[in-house]
Amino acid sequence: MYVYADNAATTKMSTVALNAMMPYMTEIYGNPSSLHSVGQEAKEALENARARVAACLGCEPREIIFTSGGSEADNQAIMSAARYGALKGKKHIITTAFEHHAVLHTLNRLEKEGFSVTYLDVKEGHNITAQQVKDAIREDTCLVTTMFANNEIGSILPIAEIGAVCKEADVPFHTDAVQAVGHLHINVKELNIDMLSLSAHKFHGPKGVGVLYARRGFPLTNVIEGGAQERGKRAGTENIAGICGLAAALEDACAHIDENAAKVSALRDKLIAGLSKIPHSALNGDPVNRLPGNVSFCFEGIEGESLLLMLDMNGIAASSGSACTSGSLDPSHVLLAIGRVHDVAHGSLRLSLCEYNTEEEIDHILKVVPEVVSHLRNMSPVWRDLQNGKRQYIL
Ligand SMILES: *Cc1c(COP(=O)(O)O)cnc(C)c1O
Repeated sequence: MYVYADNAATTKMSTVALNAMMPYMTEIYGNPSSLHSVGQEAKEALENARARVAACLGCEPREIIFTSGGSEADNQAIMSAARYGALKGKKHIITTAFEHHAVLHTLNRLEKEGFSVTYLDVKEGHNITAQQVKDAIREDTCLVTTMFANNEIGSILPIAEIGAVCKEADVPFHTDAVQAVGHLHINVKELNIDMLSLSAHKFHGPKGVGVLYARRGFPLTNVIEGGAQERGKRAGTENIAGICGLAAALEDACAHIDENAAKVSALRDKLIAGLSKIPHSALNGDPVNRLPGNVSFCFEGIEGESLLLMLDMNGIAASSGSACTSGSLDPSHVLLAIGRVHDVAHGSLRLSLCEYNTEEEIDHILKVVPEVVSHLRNMSPVWRDLQNGKRQYIL
């Protein structure tokens, strides 16, 4: 049995998305900026996709800009608000301590340019409150950027309340909704969102294509300079096949959102209940306001990397917050931000589910994970010290 439980990293493309893309990689290969008919056919597909994406988000087609993915959309949203803020002498930005690196690294760059950034604390309930945002807003705040839902621990942020606070204070609000779009109901107008980032490959669409929604009139800065595509706000020949795949996948996800959420959250709850029985373990993330597919745990006395390798050998594809993607040995900034100490954060496991997962697969995970955890603990010097009292248990 092979179980793919790493849907927060990326998802399998759906047949719906693939079928929507094929014609634009074979017959309708024109450049939408060309005046001939094969170009104009591509242009029609582009505008049709834009309208359908806008309908899914509750905005106007002209408020949709296609990008190369979630990272680019995050970069453009933040750089735009920063440039506009600087013009008015406003150089303060509010964010959270557990954002994606696409947001955090962009903000680090701005800090080097003289911006000041407030990182809201996420220890309490593994989440933030709108009150924290309200308290942090200053005269010179030019942007609030908080994710819609966290990719590692699954916490869903109180976006409606944050949107209301920002509207009241007249501060632009951007949300990295990459983990939320296609999984949770989102209407950007009702939620008072000024800018939103999404990415197709997190909801069974293709990789390398995303969207920046920006409220009409919001002054955008280009990240990619060149031709006049995307109303002059994002240069480069449009990825028509990818954009058509994105629109089809988004429509499909939104049409089945309640049904998928019910199915996936039942699998999630079964998994959480089963894994909670492992001694000296703890669930990460908001236990109530939680993404339907997210299961995140820390197990004391083991290394996340060893756990992942052994799960892979047992046919389970998962992820660990401590994955040293950068080659460093630092544990995940998200787990540290919620207050996990280094040793505990190193023993983390994220299983992220989607509607393709089955109950049998959950049973397989529930059989394998406890076995592997106890196997690794039996080999661990740290675990031995915990057992014979030379070290204190934290969990
Ligand atoms: C995946 C992800 C991104 C990056 O999106 P890409 O399309 O891979 O660039 C940004 N933010 C969050 C929360 C994500 O989960």
